[in-house]
Amino acid sequence: MAQKYEGCAVGIDLGTTYSCVAVWSEQHNRVEIIHNDQGNRTTPSFVAFTYDQRLIGDAAKNQSTTNPENTVFDAKRLIGRKFSDPVVQKDKMLWPFEVIAGVNDKPMITIKYKGQTKQFCAEEISSMVLGKMREVAEAYLESPVKNAVITVPAYFSDSQRKATKDAGAIAGLNVIRIINEPTAAAIAYGLNKRSGCDGERNIFVFDLGGGTFDVSILTINGDVYEVKATSGNTHLGGEDFDNRMLNYFVEEFKKKNEVDISGNSRALRRLRTVCEGAKRILSFAFFTTVEVDSLFNGIDFSSSITRAKFEEINMDLFDECMTTVESCLSYSQMQKSDIDDVVLVGGSSRIPKVQDLLRDFFKGKDLYKSINPDEAVAYGAAVQAAILSKGFQNVPNLVLRDVTPLSLGISAHIDIMDVVIPRNTSVPVKKTKGYVTPEDNSNVSIKVYEGERAKASDNNLLGFFTLSCPPGTLRGQPLEVCFAIDENGILTVSAKEISSGNMNEITVTNDKERLSVFEIRKMIEEAERYHVEDQKFLRKARVLSELDLCVYKMKNALKKNDVNLKLSPQESEKINNAITVATDLLDKNNQQKEVEVLEVHLKELESMLERLISMTE
Ligand code: ADP
Ligand code: MG
Repeated sequence: MAQKYEGCAVGIDLGTTYSCVAVWSEQHNRVEIIHNDQGNRTTPSFVAFTYDQRLIGDAAKNQSTTNPENTVFDAKRLIGRKFSDPVVQKDKMLWPFEVIAGVNDKPMITIKYKGQTKQFCAEEISSMVLGKMREVAEAYLESPVKNAVITVPAYFSDSQRKATKDAGAIAGLNVIRIINEPTAAAIAYGLNKRSGCDGERNIFVFDLGGGTFDVSILTINGDVYEVKATSGNTHLGGEDFDNRMLNYFVEEFKKKNEVDISGNSRALRRLRTVCEGAKRILSFAFFTTVEVDSLFNGIDFSSSITRAKFEEINMDLFDECMTTVESCLSYSQMQKSDIDDVVLVGGSSRIPKVQDLLRDFFKGKDLYKSINPDEAVAYGAAVQAAILSKGFQNVPNLVLRDVTPLSLGISAHIDIMDVVIPRNTSVPVKKTKGYVTPEDNSNVSIKVYEGERAKASDNNLLGFFTLSCPPGTLRGQPLEVCFAIDENGILTVSAKEISSGNMNEITVTNDKERLSVFEIRKMIEEAERYHVEDQKFLRKARVLSELDLCVYKMKNALKKNDVNLKLSPQESEKINNAITVATDLLDKNNQQKEVEVLEVHLKELESMLERLISMTE
């Protein structure tokens, strides 16, 4: 069983534009999405600073048109990144607030608060949003909330995950688990669909949010949820659709009134807010009106837009979404017909045209709409939170299990990756494998790797340690290496030298050295690409290793008196020459020789060794 935490825990979807908090309700036996003080079930991920106060959520977003330089949003785009990151450099141009380089190239958001210039890092801004979500939950639960599960995009790197965890800690939360957004959505789906879905199911999670678009393919097998492929566009979402409508109305205003408002940021922001509202209405109505009093120079703006027009001005963006869907499918090497369900996530997945295109792409397949797309991620996070908490008794009997995304092993002799736990093994798991000491009189260095390449050093080095052996320990003495992964994905590798009982171990935590889903996919692709090369390496490495062992055994045999007495001078010279040649071949700087040459020499040595051994018998 996974480690359980005291009390109750909430699930938080910390979105780029909107966040959502949810909790498992014992009373109702289901997840409750918690509404904020405005009665809204999602809260803008906005923080604003004014002359006398700090505002978070709806209050911050509502005043953004009058205080743009001090209204911070999109902190998720900055979190865990360096200032010089090209992504940050590009985003910076679009924000009304200032971002500068801080210590260690950390991006710092600069604002004015209570008349003074202040700097905040992305973790601090995100912590304010998380703090708000915590308050929202505490007001609803009427009790303090300490523990939380927070979601992040599947492609988030280790440093982005770590920074998100730090944001939670700054908000005073104990982040008991960070889970992938598509996995959370899949949990929500899996729970709703529990009856009649035995066996393996492939689901396609289509998450079109405010400013980002993420698609993922997951396989659910019993209790195991595995992300198979991800793709996306970090700059495509609801805000782009709002901007298209905004431009459309700016043109119309120009035609009607012969004034161009495109240089007036206040007028643009006011109009953009109205456009977002109109866009939402067009998801259920075919027509809507748009009005802004005194938009520019006292001129009122009043107009209307049809759903058809909205679709026309955004069609290229919608088409782009479908291209991404296609590439994700090809990454996963699945066919359209392999997908059992398409799950809609993110507010913008409500747009009817987007749904039509998606349905057509999957050959008329019905889309799964039983869960609210704004809430699916927080819903799944709340289920995961409940599973990990002692405070809930009636949580669905669903033990989420993970699988190892990459093979884990150690570098055995001559840089060969020796797999102890193969890829796709479900965790928790514990496996022990036997080895031998590789040299006389020396300690053993154990290097732990993850990856699919045959050469250990082509994989990701997770850590290393030394196992000390008592003086006089010869080559070939038995060792035991044990790999254990617990429910939190924490890997412990221990090694033991049997004769002395000496032991040593290291622990590799999931959120430090391990790879992200994106990097994992890249590694698996690379392993496939380099398959032939890897086979060649393996063949040569194995011959070298056998050659080394053969030389070692021959040298030992030659130390024996009866062998030396029985050897003729010519024979002795021949054997010593062969050993010199082999030692030369084994020299690290001299390993360019063709594998065939090595194999011929190995054969020759092996027959000599056989003869030497027969002399000692
Ligand atoms: P995030 O990217 O922060 O996770 P969400 O998934 O909450 O964002 O999506 C927010 C976006 O969804 C906003 O751009 C919002 O305008 C849009 N949206 C919400 N409801 C609708 C709707 N009914 N029709 C179209 N767009 C919507
Ligand atoms: Mg989202």
